Amino acid sequence: MSFVYFCSVCKKELTADEFALYRKLVRRDGENCLCYHCLAEQFDLDEEKLPEMAEQFKKQGCMLF
Ligand SMILES: [Zn+2]
Repeated sequence: MSFVYFCSVCKKELTADEFALYRKLVRRDGENCLCYHCLAEQFDLDEEKLPEMAEQFKKQGCMLF
């Protein structure tokens, strides 16, 4: 994939997984995306679990990843 998105809070460049997980969990058409850290803060999630969740969705064959 050839895109670059940045976290709308901390301006960190997002990985493809961070971008995809945000879309999966929050909103599919979101233009303002969040990195794992800010996503965890905003939605009271465990930041360390987010990469695992991304892997789970990939294994399920989610089209967003
Ligand atoms: Zn961030």
